[in-house]
Amino acid sequence: MQFGDPSLPQRFWDNVSVTKIDGKTHWLWTGYVHKKGYGRITIDHKSIDVHTLTTPDCPPGLERDHKCKIKHCCNPECIEFVTHLENVRRGKAAEVARATFTKQRCKRNHVYDRVNSRGHKVCSLCIAIRKEASSSSLRKVPIV
Ligand SMILES: [Zn+2]
Ligand SMILES: [Zn+2]
Repeated sequence: MQFGDPSLPQRFWDNVSVTKIDGKTHWLWTGYVHKKGYGRITIDHKSIDVHTLTTPDCPPGLERDHKCKIKHCCNPECIEFVTHLENVRRGKAAEVARATFTKQRCKRNHVYDRVNSRGHKVCSLCIAIRKEASSSSLRKVPIV
């Protein structure tokens, strides 16, 4: 679908802002955005995700996935048709990536640089601090 396609109402296109980000063109929805992050429009009393309107050629059984990760973008160039499983897998991968991104640092704000035997991320600085603390407390124990 081309921008301004007459099969969609003008008020649809009025809400689309064609924006270039990092050399790629996105059709950003400036109207109502649903809490899931998708742009929504009401046509014939039905609330529809705007990116589904620009990709009416989605084969049955497949789902639309935003390659550009901008959920309120409705450029068909940014949308890929994938199976439900693939979509879920990608969603989980993005979730994991977000979780790792926010958990890059320990409670002392050191960058995690190791994984311990239980698979937990640890930082060698804290290990050193803990060792230091235990050895200095040992030193405080009077030698009898
Ligand atoms: Zn996009
Ligand atoms: Zn630390």
